[in-house]
Amino acid sequence: MKTPQTDWQQLAWAGITLFAPNDWYVTHLRVTQNESYIRMEDDEMVRFELSCMTVSPIQQINLREQAEAILSKMAKEAKRRGEEFSQSVDTKLVGRHQVKGRDVLTFSWAGKYIGEGMLWWCGKCNKVLAAHVIGVRGEKLKELAKKLFTGISDHSEDEWHRWKLFGLDLKIHSSMRLCGHKVEAGFVRLQFKRGDEDSIEVARWSTADLMLKGTTLDKLAAQVLKEHLKKFEVSYRHVHLGSSSHEGIELFGKAKMPLKTLQLFLRQLTKRSLMPRLRGLMWKCDDTNRLFLVLAITASEGENEFEQVVNSFKCH
Ligand SMILES: [Zn+2]
Ligand SMILES: [Zn+2]
Repeated sequence: MKTPQTDWQQLAWAGITLFAPNDWYVTHLRVTQNESYIRMEDDEMVRFELSCMTVSPIQQINLREQAEAILSKMAKEAKRRGEEFSQSVDTKLVGRHQVKGRDVLTFSWAGKYIGEGMLWWCGKCNKVLAAHVIGVRGEKLKELAKKLFTGISDHSEDEWHRWKLFGLDLKIHSSMRLCGHKVEAGFVRLQFKRGDEDSIEVARWSTADLMLKGTTLDKLAAQVLKEHLKKFEVSYRHVHLGSSSHEGIELFGKAKMPLKTLQLFLRQLTKRSLMPRLRGLMWKCDDTNRLFLVLAITASEGENEFEQVVNSFKCH
């Protein structure tokens, strides 16, 4: 039987925040303009899934119908595998008052595994959420699911979205979309875009001491920025962030372009557009022995967006 988890971690992406047991980790993340999906597993099995969809404000949402559709699909799959399956809709595991007035409906099922499900609709941001906590028979899943479900928040109170995933913790403006992410042992990168002109990427590397062995932060940054150095003329300066244990380098870049491209580019410019600029900050966090990078490329005004991202960053 699974032992009840005591330590919980916070996760945040695209305006959603939640708490989950510490020993679950994200194995799948998908974020598009109107949808997002996250899956968490422990060492043995899938433990949690959350999908979120933004619907039109006039769309009628029938949570009961949706719950029944989810369950009937699961029942069919179980039948095909020759497994027993039982289900219950409207289990009242959480009430409206516990989820700040959102329309909510909970359901549960038992087959080879057991599950607690929740559907909710938020009238403020028009998001429909479907969440599932999965466990093994005999586990006290209701308690766990209730704690998790009531800790979910589906929209941020301001224009900034917190992203707290894979050891990164920072805020990105809500007009930026996640356009790519990479998660490897010792390396994580999230890439965001707004239109064609503005992008921000954030990254972290583990074992900073090993990475800096026999090299310097400048050289490492040059290596990391290799692709950008083809397009930008980059200058840098050494900085100390907050405390002396955070040595870093700040990068400033101006687009370099062949004359022909430049002329073409200038012709296409509207009065408000600017030449693309690069701003970056790479630093070593001694508290965590990690290296972090924030890199922004922008051709629009909004000068201090980069600073705001950097200021929101929690590296330890
Ligand atoms: Zn909402
Ligand atoms: Zn730090």
